[in-house]
Amino acid sequence: MKPIIGITSNIDSAAHTLQNTYIQAVIDGGGVPFIIPTGVESDVQQITTLLNGLIISGGGDMNPHLFNEEPWPELGNVTPERDSIEMELVRHMLKLDKPILGICRGHQVLNVALGGTLYQDIVSQVASPILQHDQKAKREYQSHAVHIEKGTILESITTSDKIMVNSFHHQAVKDIPSPLVVSGKASDGIAEAVESTDHHFVVGVQWHPESLMQNSDQVSRRLFEAYMKACVERMAAVEYH
Ligand code: MN
Repeated sequence: MKPIIGITSNIDSAAHTLQNTYIQAVIDGGGVPFIIPTGVESDVQQITTLLNGLIISGGGDMNPHLFNEEPWPELGNVTPERDSIEMELVRHMLKLDKPILGICRGHQVLNVALGGTLYQDIVSQVASPILQHDQKAKREYQSHAVHIEKGTILESITTSDKIMVNSFHHQAVKDIPSPLVVSGKASDGIAEAVESTDHHFVVGVQWHPESLMQNSDQVSRRLFEAYMKACVERMAAVEYH
């Protein structure tokens, strides 16, 4: 039996969309990808019982009201229906301790679902000099470094104190609530990776490993492998009980 991995999708007025790279990364990792639409909040308990893992994909901005802020002028496009299903999925998956991988926006969703806050726009909200986090280079280019914190899941995966990542975000996690800890930081102090100290495998990364994998980046490959391994372990544990 392969693990069933739910992947959240983007929505606009006409279509649900999801980059193929997420789907391919799950298939390559030995899982079965299921794309989760918006509008199924009332069925989340049944959905999360079925899933062996959840990937919260990248996308636009989160509604700042979810962390009790009014919108700043630099806030981009928000999709409240997407926020809603993703927050519900995260809460249920955490309760079941099933693995979650949050990517880019998904890393931010994870933080907000646990009670954290975001910089709505890092360029206008962070006082100290910051790096270019919305890179102009192509998707697979690894434009800035992430310094890895010792003793974290991320360190055990990367086996390194510094990795290079791509960067396509103008928002970032700000206040990070327990049980999340920062596991990777950019040189300007922006938290680029978080993980839970209370769950089997709950990891958020601000970059796009599913894109870097297409370019044979070994760290990204190991991150997906570790995630899929956790999904298989939890699948076995849940079935046993
Ligand atoms: Mn970045």
